[in-house]
Amino acid sequence: MRRMSGWKDEQVIIVGGGIGGLAAALALARQGIPSQVIEQAPEFKEIGAGIQLGPNVFRMFERLGLIEPVSALAVFPNNLIMMDSVTGEEVTRIPLGDVFRRKFHHPYALIHRADLHKVLLEACRQSNVIKLDASQKVVKVDDLGGGIAVRSESGKDYRGAALIGADGLWSTVRQIVVGDGAPKPAGHITYRAVLPTSEMPEQWRWRDMVLWAGEKVHLVHYPLRTGELFNLVAVFHSNRYEEGWDSYGDPTELHERFAKTCEPVRTLLNKIESWRMWVLCDRPPIKDWSRGRITLLGDAAHPMLQYLAQGAGMSIEDAVCLADRAAAANGDYAAAFLAYQQARYLRTGRVQIMARVYGEFYHAAGVAKELRNMMLSSRSTADAMAGMAWLYGEQKELSSGAAA
Ligand SMILES: Cc1cc2nc3c(=O)[nH]c(=O)nc-3n(C[C@H](O)[C@H](O)[C@H](O)COP(=O)(O)OP(=O)(O)OC[C@H]3O[C@@H](n4cnc5c(N)ncnc54)[C@H](O)[C@@H]3O)c2cc1C
Repeated sequence: MRRMSGWKDEQVIIVGGGIGGLAAALALARQGIPSQVIEQAPEFKEIGAGIQLGPNVFRMFERLGLIEPVSALAVFPNNLIMMDSVTGEEVTRIPLGDVFRRKFHHPYALIHRADLHKVLLEACRQSNVIKLDASQKVVKVDDLGGGIAVRSESGKDYRGAALIGADGLWSTVRQIVVGDGAPKPAGHITYRAVLPTSEMPEQWRWRDMVLWAGEKVHLVHYPLRTGELFNLVAVFHSNRYEEGWDSYGDPTELHERFAKTCEPVRTLLNKIESWRMWVLCDRPPIKDWSRGRITLLGDAAHPMLQYLAQGAGMSIEDAVCLADRAAAANGDYAAAFLAYQQARYLRTGRVQIMARVYGEFYHAAGVAKELRNMMLSSRSTADAMAGMAWLYGEQKELSSGAAA
């Protein structure tokens, strides 16, 4: 590995100021590495609704000094519950109290995505080594050998020692590094909405993460913002849409897809007048998402379906791992990026693959559904938690000092 003095004087360019990009800036800053975040949107802001955070993400918040501000805005649910959306019966519940916290050393939480983004943004703004530029869409990236040159659509030029593409599912940087075209629509559509708690039927105001599993459909609800809001996410299979865009959903189609579900599910769907729609896309896992001084992070590197609620979590883990490797490589970014992807690809690939498997599991019909219900309902809490250890448990490559 080459050793360079004064390497921390040169900034790293981060394309994309979403959850992953800001987490990367923060993780680098904690290693004394300056960065310039470039965001195409007119302001640094998240849209969307709720997000679930497993204990693995809290372990990263600990490394980033964010446990307190995140906890102040999060809801800590009592249980993860799966209901059968046809019979209306409970299939399984995993308590998230003391036993869960003792096992994983951190809690499970629910947060508004805008609140999580704000916590990251505030922390970035407090750092004197992070620069934030909005309204700049990156259109050109050149690896000059000794550094990186970037140009935005409006003609602004940036220079940096290295570049991280944290530019999401439709990443421009990925096309330079990997060049594998557009992500694949999964044939699953998500409608999302947020409901004031006063409009949520009283009997369903549970302080739990509840998933109603159905045949080719499922509905999720959970409280947000200290219980002021409820997040509702309805998912169904449809090949009617080909691209992953964000627009308003069609309630008629939603009600048709959920026609076979039980009365509580249909009542909950009826509470929402206006849904935002996402056409879900992912990609198969890859193991090489770096080229010289350019690498990828978060959805740009390993977009996944949301069924394990881990896309943002994986981007935050990436950020910590990448910054550790950058610090250990003393300015040799090409080496650092190879070490980072080597440390990450099997974990993120496993989450990508397992997210698809869970999608099948949630949407099972016939014998597969019976088998799912039988397996989950006969499982002990200890077995359930043991089954989660691969995802929520400590990861060697993410502990402080792992890269040294
Ligand atoms: C329905 C749904 C539910 C989900 N639920 C969860 C959950 O519960 N838990 C969880 O952990 N994850 C969840 N996810 C996944 C999570 O939202 C994503 O994985 C995460 O937001 C990815 O973060 P990112 O920073 O990599 O990308 P993004 O959030 O997409 O950010 C990319 C940023 O880059 C900017 N950008 C793009 N191109 C350019 C350019 N050329 N120049 C400059 N800027 C650019 C964009 O404007 C954007 O701000 C869910 C996803 C969906 C769809």
